[in-house]
Amino acid sequence: MDRFDAAIIGAGVTGVATARRLAMAGLRVLLLEKGEDILSGASKANSALLHTGFDAPEGSLELRCMQQGYSEYMGLAQAMNLPVLKASAMVVAWTEAQETDLQGILSAAHRNGVTDTRLISRADILSREPGLSPKARAAVLVPGEFVIDPWSPFHGYAQQILNLGGTIRRGTEVTGGAFDGQSWRIETSKGTFCADRIVNCAGLYGDRIDALLLGRTDFTIKPRKGQFIVFDKAAAKQLNSIILPVPDARTKGVVLTPTIFGNLLVGPTAEETEDRHRATVTRSALDMLQQRAVEILPALQDMPVTATYAGLRPATEFKEYRIHCDPARNWVTVGGIRSTGLTASLGIARHVADLLGAGPGESPKPPQMPNLAEHLPRDWQSPGYGEIVCHCEMVTRREIEAALNGPFPPGDLGGLKRRTRCAMGRCQGFNCMGRIAELTGGRLSPDIAVAP
Ligand SMILES: Cc1cc2nc3c(=O)[nH]c(=O)nc-3n(C[C@H](O)[C@H](O)[C@H](O)COP(=O)(O)OP(=O)(O)OC[C@H]3O[C@@H](n4cnc5c(N)ncnc54)[C@H](O)[C@@H]3O)c2cc1C
Repeated sequence: MDRFDAAIIGAGVTGVATARRLAMAGLRVLLLEKGEDILSGASKANSALLHTGFDAPEGSLELRCMQQGYSEYMGLAQAMNLPVLKASAMVVAWTEAQETDLQGILSAAHRNGVTDTRLISRADILSREPGLSPKARAAVLVPGEFVIDPWSPFHGYAQQILNLGGTIRRGTEVTGGAFDGQSWRIETSKGTFCADRIVNCAGLYGDRIDALLLGRTDFTIKPRKGQFIVFDKAAAKQLNSIILPVPDARTKGVVLTPTIFGNLLVGPTAEETEDRHRATVTRSALDMLQQRAVEILPALQDMPVTATYAGLRPATEFKEYRIHCDPARNWVTVGGIRSTGLTASLGIARHVADLLGAGPGESPKPPQMPNLAEHLPRDWQSPGYGEIVCHCEMVTRREIEAALNGPFPPGDLGGLKRRTRCAMGRCQGFNCMGRIAELTGGRLSPDIAVAP
Protein backbone atom coordinates (compact mmCIF):
# COMPACT_ATOMS: atom_id res chain seq x y z
CA MET A 1 0.00 0.00 0.00
CA ASP A 2 1.35 3.46 -0.94
CA ARG A 3 2.09 5.69 2.12
CA PHE A 4 1.93 9.48 2.17
CA ASP A 5 2.45 12.26 4.71
CA ALA A 6 -0.82 13.93 3.72
CA ALA A 7 -3.81 13.04 1.56
CA ILE A 8 -5.97 15.84 0.20
CA ILE A 9 -9.47 14.80 -0.82
CA GLY A 10 -10.78 16.87 -3.72
CA ALA A 11 -8.90 18.71 -6.46
CA GLY A 12 -10.89 21.89 -6.77
CA VAL A 13 -9.17 25.21 -6.27
CA THR A 14 -8.77 24.69 -2.51
CA GLY A 15 -7.47 21.12 -2.75
CA VAL A 16 -4.95 21.89 -5.49
CA ALA A 17 -3.64 25.01 -3.72
CA THR A 18 -3.44 23.13 -0.41
CA ALA A 19 -1.62 20.14 -1.92
CA ARG A 20 0.86 22.54 -3.51
CA ARG A 21 1.50 24.33 -0.23
CA LEU A 22 1.99 21.07 1.73
CA ALA A 23 4.28 19.69 -0.98
CA MET A 24 6.31 22.90 -0.75
CA ALA A 25 6.58 22.31 3.01
CA GLY A 26 8.31 18.99 2.24
CA LEU A 27 5.35 16.65 2.80
CA ARG A 28 4.80 13.72 0.49
CA VAL A 29 1.30 14.53 -0.72
CA LEU A 30 -1.44 12.55 -2.41
CA LEU A 31 -4.22 14.51 -4.12
CA LEU A 32 -7.35 12.40 -4.69
CA GLU A 33 -10.02 13.53 -7.14
CA LYS A 34 -13.11 11.61 -8.15
CA GLY A 35 -13.62 13.58 -11.37
CA GLU A 36 -11.75 12.64 -14.53
CA ASP A 37 -9.72 15.81 -14.16
CA ILE A 38 -9.03 18.47 -11.56
CA LEU A 39 -11.43 21.46 -11.31
CA SER A 40 -14.43 19.34 -12.22
CA GLY A 41 -16.61 20.36 -9.22
CA ALA A 42 -17.59 23.86 -8.09
CA SER A 43 -14.30 25.19 -9.44
CA LYS A 44 -15.15 24.56 -13.09
CA ALA A 45 -17.69 27.40 -13.29
CA ASN A 46 -17.22 30.75 -11.60
CA SER A 47 -17.02 34.47 -12.44
CA ALA A 48 -13.19 34.48 -12.48
CA LEU A 49 -12.90 37.63 -10.39
CA LEU A 50 -9.91 38.20 -8.13
CA HIS A 51 -11.49 39.98 -5.19
CA THR A 52 -9.85 42.50 -2.88
CA GLY A 53 -12.09 41.52 0.03
CA PHE A 54 -13.57 45.02 0.18
CA ASP A 55 -17.01 43.60 1.02
CA ALA A 56 -16.00 40.49 2.98
CA PRO A 57 -17.17 40.11 6.59
CA GLU A 58 -14.93 42.25 8.79
CA GLY A 59 -12.38 40.31 10.85
CA SER A 60 -13.34 37.01 9.20
CA LEU A 61 -11.08 34.12 8.24
CA GLU A 62 -12.54 34.50 4.74
CA LEU A 63 -11.22 38.07 4.51
CA ARG A 64 -7.80 37.01 5.78
CA CYS A 65 -7.57 34.15 3.28
CA MET A 66 -8.78 36.32 0.41
CA GLN A 67 -6.24 39.05 1.06
CA GLN A 68 -3.42 36.58 1.56
CA GLY A 69 -4.52 34.71 -1.57
CA TYR A 70 -4.79 37.89 -3.60
CA SER A 71 -1.31 39.11 -2.77
CA GLU A 72 0.34 35.72 -3.28
CA TYR A 73 -1.50 35.34 -6.59
CA MET A 74 -0.27 38.67 -7.91
CA GLY A 75 3.33 37.56 -7.31
CA LEU A 76 2.77 34.16 -8.89
CA ALA A 77 0.92 35.62 -11.87
CA GLN A 78 4.07 37.40 -12.91
CA ALA A 79 6.33 34.44 -12.27
CA MET A 80 4.06 31.94 -14.08
CA ASN A 81 2.97 34.05 -17.05
CA LEU A 82 -0.64 34.13 -15.79
CA PRO A 83 -2.78 36.91 -17.25
CA VAL A 84 -4.49 39.53 -15.09
CA LEU A 85 -7.00 41.96 -16.56
CA LYS A 86 -6.77 45.04 -14.36
CA ALA A 87 -10.39 45.92 -14.89
CA SER A 88 -11.39 47.73 -11.62
CA ALA A 89 -14.89 47.31 -10.25
CA MET A 90 -17.68 49.80 -9.68
CA VAL A 91 -20.45 49.04 -7.19
CA VAL A 92 -23.16 50.99 -8.94
CA ALA A 93 -26.26 52.39 -7.23
CA TRP A 94 -29.33 52.44 -9.45
CA THR A 95 -31.87 53.66 -6.87
CA GLU A 96 -31.91 56.34 -4.18
CA ALA A 97 -31.90 53.68 -1.45
CA GLN A 98 -28.87 51.97 -2.98
CA GLU A 99 -27.10 55.32 -3.22
CA THR A 100 -27.58 55.74 0.53
CA ASP A 101 -25.93 52.33 1.06
CA LEU A 102 -22.75 53.32 -0.80
CA GLN A 103 -21.27 55.19 2.18
CA GLY A 104 -21.60 52.04 4.32
CA ILE A 105 -19.94 49.94 1.61
CA LEU A 106 -17.08 52.43 1.40
CA SER A 107 -16.55 52.53 5.19
CA ALA A 108 -16.57 48.71 5.36
CA ALA A 109 -14.03 48.54 2.53
CA HIS A 110 -11.72 50.94 4.36
CA ARG A 111 -12.10 48.96 7.58
CA ASN A 112 -11.08 45.86 5.58
CA GLY A 113 -7.90 47.65 4.55
CA VAL A 114 -8.97 48.28 0.95
CA THR A 115 -8.18 51.94 1.28
CA ASP A 116 -8.05 52.88 -2.40
CA THR A 117 -11.83 52.49 -2.76
CA ARG A 118 -13.69 55.77 -3.19
CA LEU A 119 -17.06 57.21 -4.10
CA ILE A 120 -17.48 58.43 -7.66
CA SER A 121 -20.24 60.44 -9.30
CA ARG A 122 -22.48 59.62 -12.25
CA ALA A 123 -20.23 61.75 -14.47
CA ASP A 124 -17.18 59.76 -13.33
CA ILE A 125 -18.98 56.48 -13.97
CA LEU A 126 -19.99 57.50 -17.48
CA SER A 127 -16.57 58.85 -18.34
CA ARG A 128 -15.14 55.43 -17.46
CA GLU A 129 -18.00 53.47 -19.04
CA PRO A 130 -19.79 55.61 -21.64
CA GLY A 131 -22.06 52.70 -22.65
CA LEU A 132 -23.58 52.32 -19.20
CA SER A 133 -27.18 53.41 -18.65
CA PRO A 134 -27.35 57.05 -17.49
CA LYS A 135 -29.69 55.81 -14.74
CA ALA A 136 -26.51 55.02 -12.77
CA ARG A 137 -26.53 57.44 -9.82
CA ALA A 138 -23.16 56.98 -8.10
CA ALA A 139 -20.71 54.19 -7.34
CA VAL A 140 -17.96 52.92 -5.11
CA LEU A 141 -14.86 52.44 -7.25
CA VAL A 142 -12.72 49.43 -6.28
CA PRO A 143 -9.54 49.76 -8.35
CA GLY A 144 -8.01 46.44 -7.21
CA GLU A 145 -10.77 44.04 -8.36
CA PHE A 146 -9.36 42.13 -11.33
CA VAL A 147 -10.33 39.45 -13.85
CA ILE A 148 -8.18 36.32 -14.12
CA ASP A 149 -7.97 32.99 -15.95
CA PRO A 150 -9.82 30.71 -13.50
CA TRP A 151 -8.10 27.47 -14.52
CA SER A 152 -4.53 27.91 -15.78
CA PRO A 153 -3.09 28.80 -12.34
CA PHE A 154 -4.31 25.48 -10.95
CA HIS A 155 -2.90 23.48 -13.85
CA GLY A 156 0.38 25.21 -13.05
CA TYR A 157 0.09 24.42 -9.33
CA ALA A 158 -0.60 20.77 -10.25
CA GLN A 159 2.65 20.71 -12.23
CA GLN A 160 4.41 22.10 -9.16
CA ILE A 161 2.93 19.34 -6.99
CA LEU A 162 4.27 16.73 -9.39
CA ASN A 163 7.67 18.45 -9.60
CA LEU A 164 7.88 18.34 -5.80
CA GLY A 165 7.30 14.58 -5.81
CA GLY A 166 3.57 14.66 -5.06
CA THR A 167 1.03 12.27 -6.56
CA ILE A 168 -2.26 13.21 -8.20
CA ARG A 169 -4.88 10.50 -8.71
CA ARG A 170 -7.85 11.47 -10.83
CA GLY A 171 -10.94 9.34 -11.38
CA THR A 172 -10.38 8.15 -7.80
CA GLU A 173 -13.30 8.49 -5.42
CA VAL A 174 -12.78 8.24 -1.68
CA THR A 175 -15.32 5.72 -0.41
CA GLY A 176 -14.24 5.15 3.19
CA GLY A 177 -11.38 5.20 5.64
CA ALA A 178 -10.25 4.56 9.19
CA PHE A 179 -7.73 6.14 11.58
CA ASP A 180 -5.60 3.81 13.71
CA GLY A 181 -4.26 6.50 16.06
CA GLN A 182 -1.21 7.17 13.85
CA SER A 183 -2.34 7.23 10.27
CA TRP A 184 -5.31 6.93 7.94
CA ARG A 185 -6.18 3.98 5.74
CA ILE A 186 -8.14 5.45 2.83
CA GLU A 187 -10.43 3.32 0.67
CA THR A 188 -11.00 4.57 -2.86
CA SER A 189 -12.54 3.36 -6.10
CA LYS A 190 -8.97 2.65 -7.26
CA GLY A 191 -7.47 0.93 -4.24
CA THR A 192 -6.30 1.67 -0.73
CA PHE A 193 -3.85 4.37 0.34
CA CYS A 194 -2.23 5.24 3.64
CA ALA A 195 -1.60 8.81 4.84
CA ASP A 196 -0.59 10.33 8.17
CA ARG A 197 -2.95 13.29 7.72
CA ILE A 198 -6.09 14.08 5.73
CA VAL A 199 -7.31 17.43 4.45
CA ASN A 200 -10.94 17.29 3.34
CA CYS A 201 -11.35 19.72 0.40
CA ALA A 202 -14.34 17.91 -1.12
CA GLY A 203 -16.33 21.07 -1.86
CA LEU A 204 -19.96 20.16 -2.54
CA TYR A 205 -19.40 16.84 -0.75
CA GLY A 206 -17.37 18.20 2.20
CA ASP A 207 -20.04 17.39 4.79
CA ARG A 208 -20.41 13.85 3.43
CA ILE A 209 -16.66 13.18 3.60
CA ASP A 210 -16.60 14.42 7.21
CA ALA A 211 -19.54 12.13 8.05
CA LEU A 212 -18.03 9.16 6.17
CA LEU A 213 -14.55 9.28 7.69
CA LEU A 214 -14.97 11.17 10.98
CA GLY A 215 -18.46 9.98 11.77
CA ARG A 216 -19.70 13.55 12.28
CA THR A 217 -19.96 16.90 10.56
CA ASP A 218 -20.70 20.37 11.87
CA PHE A 219 -22.15 21.79 8.65
CA THR A 220 -24.45 20.84 5.80
CA ILE A 221 -23.77 21.72 2.21
CA LYS A 222 -26.63 23.71 0.71
CA PRO A 223 -25.69 24.08 -2.95
CA ARG A 224 -26.36 27.54 -4.33
CA LYS A 225 -26.63 27.64 -8.09
CA GLY A 226 -25.31 30.52 -10.19
CA GLN A 227 -26.37 30.82 -13.83
CA PHE A 228 -24.46 32.87 -16.40
CA ILE A 229 -24.79 34.28 -19.90
CA VAL A 230 -21.65 34.69 -22.01
CA PHE A 231 -22.08 37.41 -24.62
CA ASP A 232 -20.18 37.28 -27.88
CA LYS A 233 -16.69 38.77 -28.19
CA ALA A 234 -18.12 41.85 -29.92
CA ALA A 235 -19.89 42.72 -26.66
CA ALA A 236 -16.66 42.87 -24.69
CA LYS A 237 -15.78 46.11 -26.47
CA GLN A 238 -18.74 47.72 -24.70
CA LEU A 239 -17.26 47.34 -21.22
CA ASN A 240 -13.87 47.71 -19.52
CA SER A 241 -14.84 47.51 -15.86
CA ILE A 242 -16.54 45.01 -13.58
CA ILE A 243 -20.03 46.32 -12.81
CA LEU A 244 -21.25 45.14 -9.42
CA PRO A 245 -24.67 45.83 -7.93
CA VAL A 246 -25.21 46.99 -4.36
CA PRO A 247 -25.41 43.54 -2.72
CA ASP A 248 -28.12 42.18 -0.47
CA ALA A 249 -27.65 39.91 2.54
CA ARG A 250 -27.54 36.69 0.47
CA THR A 251 -25.57 37.42 -2.65
CA LYS A 252 -23.22 39.83 -4.33
CA GLY A 253 -25.90 40.04 -7.07
CA VAL A 254 -25.73 40.09 -10.84
CA VAL A 255 -22.38 41.19 -12.19
CA LEU A 256 -21.36 42.36 -15.67
CA THR A 257 -17.71 41.71 -16.36
CA PRO A 258 -15.28 41.31 -19.21
CA THR A 259 -13.64 37.90 -19.21
CA ILE A 260 -9.95 37.26 -19.72
CA PHE A 261 -10.96 35.33 -22.85
CA GLY A 262 -12.48 38.40 -24.52
CA ASN A 263 -16.18 37.87 -23.81
CA LEU A 264 -18.66 39.68 -21.63
CA LEU A 265 -20.11 37.67 -18.77
CA VAL A 266 -23.40 38.35 -16.99
CA GLY A 267 -24.41 36.56 -13.79
CA PRO A 268 -24.48 34.72 -11.51
CA THR A 269 -27.92 34.09 -10.05
CA ALA A 270 -28.12 32.73 -6.49
CA GLU A 271 -30.60 29.86 -6.26
CA GLU A 272 -30.91 27.23 -3.55
CA THR A 273 -30.93 23.74 -5.03
CA GLU A 274 -30.85 20.14 -3.79
CA ASP A 275 -28.69 18.87 -6.64
CA ARG A 276 -24.99 18.74 -5.72
CA HIS A 277 -23.89 17.32 -9.01
CA ARG A 278 -25.62 18.91 -11.97
CA ALA A 279 -26.09 22.64 -12.53
CA THR A 280 -28.69 23.27 -15.20
CA VAL A 281 -29.68 26.56 -16.78
CA THR A 282 -33.31 27.68 -16.95
CA ARG A 283 -35.07 29.87 -19.49
CA SER A 284 -36.56 32.16 -16.82
CA ALA A 285 -33.23 32.88 -15.12
CA LEU A 286 -31.45 33.48 -18.43
CA ASP A 287 -34.23 35.85 -19.54
CA MET A 288 -33.91 37.73 -16.25
CA LEU A 289 -30.10 38.00 -16.66
CA GLN A 290 -30.39 39.17 -20.25
CA GLN A 291 -33.01 41.78 -19.36
CA ARG A 292 -30.95 43.10 -16.43
CA ALA A 293 -27.83 43.19 -18.61
CA VAL A 294 -29.58 45.29 -21.25
CA GLU A 295 -30.94 47.67 -18.59
CA ILE A 296 -27.38 48.23 -17.36
CA LEU A 297 -25.63 48.26 -20.73
CA PRO A 298 -28.20 49.06 -23.45
CA ALA A 299 -25.84 48.11 -26.32
CA LEU A 300 -26.27 44.47 -25.30
CA GLN A 301 -29.81 44.56 -26.70
CA ASP A 302 -28.79 43.10 -30.05
CA MET A 303 -25.65 41.26 -29.03
CA PRO A 304 -25.53 37.53 -29.70
CA VAL A 305 -25.06 35.16 -26.80
CA THR A 306 -22.18 32.69 -27.18
CA ALA A 307 -22.96 30.34 -24.32
CA THR A 308 -24.80 29.84 -21.08
CA TYR A 309 -23.64 27.83 -18.08
CA ALA A 310 -24.22 27.34 -14.38
CA GLY A 311 -22.06 26.60 -11.36
CA LEU A 312 -22.77 25.38 -7.83
CA ARG A 313 -21.41 27.18 -4.78
CA PRO A 314 -20.58 24.89 -1.85
CA ALA A 315 -22.58 27.08 0.56
CA THR A 316 -23.59 25.95 4.05
CA GLU A 317 -25.94 27.22 6.73
CA PHE A 318 -23.05 29.47 7.86
CA LYS A 319 -21.64 32.55 6.16
CA GLU A 320 -18.07 31.92 7.35
CA TYR A 321 -15.84 29.22 5.87
CA ARG A 322 -15.95 25.94 7.80
CA ILE A 323 -12.22 25.30 8.31
CA HIS A 324 -11.30 23.35 11.38
CA CYS A 325 -8.69 20.98 12.64
CA ASP A 326 -9.13 17.74 14.59
CA PRO A 327 -5.58 17.25 15.92
CA ALA A 328 -6.46 13.98 17.65
CA ARG A 329 -7.21 12.46 14.26
CA ASN A 330 -4.69 14.37 12.11
CA TRP A 331 -7.55 15.89 10.15
CA VAL A 332 -8.44 19.27 8.68
CA THR A 333 -11.78 20.09 7.06
CA VAL A 334 -11.88 22.89 4.51
CA GLY A 335 -15.61 23.27 3.96
CA GLY A 336 -18.12 25.83 2.79
CA ILE A 337 -15.76 27.76 0.51
CA ARG A 338 -18.76 29.19 -1.27
CA SER A 339 -18.20 32.26 -3.38
CA THR A 340 -14.65 33.52 -2.91
CA GLY A 341 -12.54 30.37 -3.16
CA LEU A 342 -10.81 31.24 -6.41
CA THR A 343 -9.34 34.33 -4.76
CA ALA A 344 -8.78 32.81 -1.34
CA SER A 345 -7.34 29.42 -2.36
CA LEU A 346 -3.67 30.30 -1.82
CA GLY A 347 -4.54 31.95 1.52
CA ILE A 348 -6.59 28.94 2.60
CA ALA A 349 -3.65 26.71 1.70
CA ARG A 350 -1.34 28.69 3.99
CA HIS A 351 -3.89 28.57 6.78
CA VAL A 352 -4.17 24.77 6.48
CA ALA A 353 -0.37 24.44 6.48
CA ASP A 354 -0.30 26.50 9.71
CA LEU A 355 -2.99 24.30 11.28
CA LEU A 356 -0.90 21.22 10.45
CA GLY A 357 2.32 22.82 11.67
CA ALA A 358 3.91 22.55 8.21
CA GLY A 359 6.66 25.07 7.57
CA PRO A 360 6.83 27.53 4.68
CA GLY A 361 9.26 25.25 2.79
CA GLU A 362 10.81 25.94 -0.56
CA SER A 363 9.36 27.83 -3.50
CA PRO A 364 9.14 25.46 -6.44
CA LYS A 365 10.37 26.60 -9.82
CA PRO A 366 7.37 28.32 -11.40
CA PRO A 367 6.18 26.69 -14.63
CA GLN A 368 5.43 29.05 -17.51
CA MET A 369 1.77 28.70 -18.45
CA PRO A 370 0.55 29.11 -22.03
CA ASN A 371 -1.40 32.34 -22.43
CA LEU A 372 -5.12 32.02 -23.22
CA ALA A 373 -6.00 35.68 -22.61
CA GLU A 374 -7.40 37.61 -25.51
CA HIS A 375 -5.56 40.86 -24.68
CA LEU A 376 -2.11 39.22 -24.83
CA PRO A 377 -0.32 37.47 -27.71
CA ARG A 378 -1.83 34.05 -28.44
CA ASP A 379 -0.19 31.01 -29.96
CA TRP A 380 -1.75 31.49 -33.42
CA GLN A 381 0.10 34.79 -33.70
CA SER A 382 3.50 33.11 -33.83
CA PRO A 383 4.70 30.87 -36.70
CA GLY A 384 4.72 27.09 -36.67
CA TYR A 385 1.37 26.48 -35.02
CA GLY A 386 0.40 23.79 -37.53
CA GLU A 387 -3.28 24.51 -38.02
CA ILE A 388 -6.13 26.38 -36.39
CA VAL A 389 -8.33 23.67 -34.90
CA CYS A 390 -10.94 25.85 -33.17
CA HIS A 391 -11.62 28.94 -35.27
CA CYS A 392 -13.98 30.59 -32.76
CA GLU A 393 -11.31 30.71 -30.04
CA MET A 394 -8.32 30.51 -32.42
CA VAL A 395 -6.92 27.39 -30.78
CA THR A 396 -3.99 25.84 -32.64
CA ARG A 397 -2.97 22.24 -33.11
CA ARG A 398 0.30 23.13 -31.40
CA GLU A 399 -1.62 24.22 -28.28
CA ILE A 400 -3.68 21.02 -28.25
CA GLU A 401 -0.60 18.84 -28.72
CA ALA A 402 1.22 20.76 -25.98
CA ALA A 403 -1.67 20.11 -23.58
CA LEU A 404 -1.86 16.41 -24.51
CA ASN A 405 1.91 15.89 -24.26
CA GLY A 406 2.49 18.27 -21.35
CA PRO A 407 3.52 17.44 -17.79
CA PHE A 408 -0.10 17.39 -16.59
CA PRO A 409 -2.29 16.26 -19.51
CA PRO A 410 -6.09 16.59 -19.49
CA GLY A 411 -8.08 13.68 -18.08
CA ASP A 412 -11.16 14.37 -20.19
CA LEU A 413 -12.59 16.73 -22.79
CA GLY A 414 -13.55 19.28 -20.12
CA GLY A 415 -9.93 19.31 -18.97
CA LEU A 416 -8.72 19.89 -22.54
CA LYS A 417 -11.19 22.76 -22.96
CA ARG A 418 -10.01 24.38 -19.73
CA ARG A 419 -6.38 24.03 -20.84
CA THR A 420 -6.80 25.36 -24.39
CA ARG A 421 -10.31 26.88 -24.79
CA CYS A 422 -11.05 24.61 -27.75
CA ALA A 423 -14.80 24.28 -28.45
CA MET A 424 -15.63 27.08 -25.99
CA GLY A 425 -16.47 29.77 -28.54
CA ARG A 426 -19.43 30.77 -30.70
CA CYS A 427 -20.12 27.36 -32.23
CA GLN A 428 -19.48 25.45 -28.97
CA GLY A 429 -17.58 22.76 -30.86
CA PHE A 430 -20.02 22.29 -33.75
CA ASN A 431 -17.26 22.86 -36.31
CA CYS A 432 -14.15 21.60 -34.54
CA MET A 433 -15.28 18.64 -32.44
CA GLY A 434 -14.58 16.09 -35.18
CA ARG A 435 -11.02 17.31 -35.55
CA ILE A 436 -10.57 17.44 -31.77
CA ALA A 437 -11.75 13.82 -31.59
CA GLU A 438 -9.14 12.85 -34.22
CA LEU A 439 -6.34 14.62 -32.37
CA THR A 440 -7.27 13.30 -28.94
CA GLY A 441 -8.34 9.75 -29.90
CA GLY A 442 -7.42 7.51 -26.94
CA ARG A 443 -5.33 10.21 -25.30
CA LEU A 444 -7.82 11.65 -22.81
CA SER A 445 -7.67 9.61 -19.64
CA PRO A 446 -7.44 10.38 -15.93
CA ASP A 447 -4.74 7.73 -15.60
CA ILE A 448 -2.24 9.20 -18.02
CA ALA A 449 1.16 10.07 -16.56
CA VAL A 450 0.29 12.05 -13.48
CA ALA A 451 2.33 10.16 -10.92
CA PRO A 452 6.08 10.85 -10.75
C1 LIG B 1 -21.42 30.87 -9.72
C2 LIG B 1 -20.12 31.02 -9.00
C3 LIG B 1 -19.36 32.19 -9.14
C4 LIG B 1 -18.16 32.34 -8.43
N1 LIG B 1 -17.36 33.43 -8.65
C5 LIG B 1 -16.18 33.54 -8.00
C6 LIG B 1 -15.31 34.63 -8.26
O1 LIG B 1 -15.55 35.43 -9.15
N2 LIG B 1 -14.19 34.75 -7.51
C7 LIG B 1 -13.86 33.86 -6.53
O2 LIG B 1 -12.86 34.06 -5.85
N3 LIG B 1 -14.63 32.77 -6.31
C8 LIG B 1 -15.78 32.60 -7.02
N4 LIG B 1 -16.58 31.51 -6.82
C9 LIG B 1 -16.23 30.56 -5.75
C10 LIG B 1 -15.30 29.45 -6.14
O3 LIG B 1 -15.53 28.97 -7.43
C11 LIG B 1 -15.50 28.35 -5.08
O4 LIG B 1 -15.30 28.91 -3.82
C12 LIG B 1 -14.53 27.23 -5.29
O5 LIG B 1 -14.64 26.71 -6.59
C13 LIG B 1 -14.72 26.10 -4.28
O6 LIG B 1 -13.68 25.20 -4.52
P1 LIG B 1 -13.47 23.88 -3.68
O7 LIG B 1 -12.14 23.37 -4.06
O8 LIG B 1 -13.73 24.16 -2.24
O9 LIG B 1 -14.64 22.91 -4.18
P2 LIG B 1 -14.75 22.07 -5.55
O10 LIG B 1 -14.29 22.83 -6.69
O11 LIG B 1 -16.13 21.51 -5.60
O12 LIG B 1 -13.72 20.90 -5.33
C14 LIG B 1 -14.02 19.75 -4.59
C15 LIG B 1 -13.55 18.55 -5.36
O13 LIG B 1 -13.70 17.40 -4.55
C16 LIG B 1 -14.04 16.32 -5.38
N5 LIG B 1 -14.65 15.28 -4.55
C17 LIG B 1 -15.84 15.32 -3.92
N6 LIG B 1 -16.06 14.17 -3.29
C18 LIG B 1 -14.97 13.39 -3.50
C19 LIG B 1 -14.63 12.07 -3.09
N7 LIG B 1 -15.43 11.30 -2.35
N8 LIG B 1 -13.43 11.57 -3.50
C20 LIG B 1 -12.59 12.31 -4.27
N9 LIG B 1 -12.89 13.56 -4.69
C21 LIG B 1 -14.07 14.09 -4.29
C22 LIG B 1 -14.98 16.94 -6.39
O14 LIG B 1 -15.08 16.16 -7.58
C23 LIG B 1 -14.36 18.30 -6.62
O15 LIG B 1 -13.52 18.34 -7.75
C24 LIG B 1 -17.76 31.32 -7.53
C25 LIG B 1 -18.51 30.15 -7.43
C26 LIG B 1 -19.65 29.98 -8.19
C27 LIG B 1 -20.38 28.67 -8.13
